[in-house]
Amino acid sequence: MSKIKYKRIVLKVSGEALAGQEGFGIKPPIIVNVAKEIKEVYALGVQIAIVVGGGNIWRGQTGAEMGMERAQADYMGMLATVMNALALQDNLEQLDVPTRVQTSIEMRQIAEPYIRRKAIRHLEKNRVVIFAAGTGNPYFSTDTTAALRAAEIDADVILMAKNNVDGVYSADPNKDVHATKFHELTHLDIIDKGLNVMDTTASSLSMDNNIPLVVFNLNEAGNIKRVVQGEQIGTTIKGDK
Ligand code: UDP
Repeated sequence: MSKIKYKRIVLKVSGEALAGQEGFGIKPPIIVNVAKEIKEVYALGVQIAIVVGGGNIWRGQTGAEMGMERAQADYMGMLATVMNALALQDNLEQLDVPTRVQTSIEMRQIAEPYIRRKAIRHLEKNRVVIFAAGTGNPYFSTDTTAALRAAEIDADVILMAKNNVDGVYSADPNKDVHATKFHELTHLDIIDKGLNVMDTTASSLSMDNNIPLVVFNLNEAGNIKRVVQGEQIGTTIKGDK
């Protein structure tokens, strides 16, 4: 077996990563690529839990800005993540990767309800577990879900797979020519400097539970594998420098 730095990972895949150029909807050819990348890591024997976002379909914030009640709009966002989870499950299974979807809001006809011990058992049996419907609570994000589930299943790391961004920068590199990339940061840096990595709830949860984070570009082939094998790409965020 080749060298593996992280044995059990939580991979956060944003909704955008499944949407392609337009940033909206589900694009099967894009998901196939994501699934292939995941399969490569699966083949190394890594235990993989995936938290999927829903921003490619619906964001609670958008609904709230249009005058909807925030909680109602957030529940719609959570349902959006379930669609993404099913699409990803389908693509992984077509590549012969065994998977289970667990939802934080029960919908037993299509997925298992989230049960922590069962999720861990699936991982031990080398099934990829896809966590859908966020935390099940409005006012939270799927980044927070990733931090929460990572703590619950005792994951070694959270891999924040970004869409065409290869790490954390001091400013938006597309807008500011002086933006510099950080190779290593602490969770506290993220909160103090207000860096755009994850929301503060997710950051503080990761910090309090001492879960390292790697932010990297999902669109470069082989990157998930590189991170898992300990190659220094993207930005690593840890408890202490
Ligand atoms: N959401 C929520 N609670 C959660 C997770 C998600 O209410 O625990 C809702 C929220 O409205 C959010 C939407 O689901 O906007 C989609 O999730 P997110 O924006 O995190 O997806 P991503 O940006 O990763 O695609």
